[in-house]
Amino acid sequence: MTPFRISFCCTNTDPEPWLAGLRTALPQADVAVWQPGAAQADVAVVWMPPQAFFDEQPQLKAIFNIGAGVDALLKLRLPPQAVVVRLEDAGMAVQMAEYVCQAVIRQFRDLNAYADDVHAGHWTYYPPRQRRDFPVGVMGLGVLGARVAQALAHFEFPVLGWSQTPKQLDGVRGFHGPAQFHDFLASSRVLVNLLPLTPETANILNRDTLSRLQPGGYVINVARGAHLVDEDLLALIHSGQLVGALLDVFRTEPLPAEHPFWREPRITLTPHTSARTLREDSIAQIVGKIAAMARGESVAGRVDVGRGY
Ligand code: NAP
Repeated sequence: MTPFRISFCCTNTDPEPWLAGLRTALPQADVAVWQPGAAQADVAVVWMPPQAFFDEQPQLKAIFNIGAGVDALLKLRLPPQAVVVRLEDAGMAVQMAEYVCQAVIRQFRDLNAYADDVHAGHWTYYPPRQRRDFPVGVMGLGVLGARVAQALAHFEFPVLGWSQTPKQLDGVRGFHGPAQFHDFLASSRVLVNLLPLTPETANILNRDTLSRLQPGGYVINVARGAHLVDEDLLALIHSGQLVGALLDVFRTEPLPAEHPFWREPRITLTPHTSARTLREDSIAQIVGKIAAMARGESVAGRVDVGRGY
């Protein structure tokens, strides 16, 4: 591979271990943290970079986003010739599967209620539920959603999936497109959101859509905060239409101290931690793709900028 320059520009990320990993794997590359006025790079490795980065780096050939979601990146003006590549799994899919499965199982097995009872010194039993009464709908059947849907199917929950285009996954009843959305919702009791944030999917978890879930509905949002209309979720929980929610992502992160989600006991919060970027896996994936591009091969995980994911 001919020498080339990699510019690293990642917010909230300690650069040193990334630089060390990239330099070890790509000894012919000049790898540096971006500073204003830096020399032109060929490849960018980014997470929430400022617009100034792209304004000063108009010659980039490839932009690697060290996350699966590219909604923040696509708000910026990018060099038009640059290929945008997102992380595909890189250790995130199994994390997302374990996170969602534990949440569904906690609801299905009344484990929160048991924990409260035991804490209060009570030895109580709840009637066992039937799996057929606990269908789980997964919105988005991409890299993460497909893995989550299949993990849920492994526990023998009835699993439904909704995507833009038709998908066939073992153990998953597929729905696609706007025309099948309401049927998908009406067939789901637990709703898991793993859609990318695009103009079509913003605010998709709202009063109208969430009130279509089966009685006892429960919402798990692990995609982006802007998918959810916060006040609609709270109103549906307060009216008893939904029994609760697990939220990992928020419109503003960290979640502001005055936000009512903090004080609603039927909402469980985690701090955007359901599927973390794993540095070693991510570097290996990026390095593999840089090598494939250098050989003139196409790479998976290319973002369709017009489509938004
Ligand atoms: P992906 O591979 O791009 O898959 C996206 C899926 O959503 C695809 O199945 C796609 O349908 C479907 N979709 C997109 N727009 C749609 C629409 N308008 N209607 C119906 N379906 C639509 O994405 P991924 O890697 O699975 O990641 C999903 C999201 O998870 C990311 O965008 C990110 O926001 C979030 N995420 C969160 C965390 C966390 O820690 N909380 C970590 C990583 C990622 P087609 O298959 O038909 O195209």
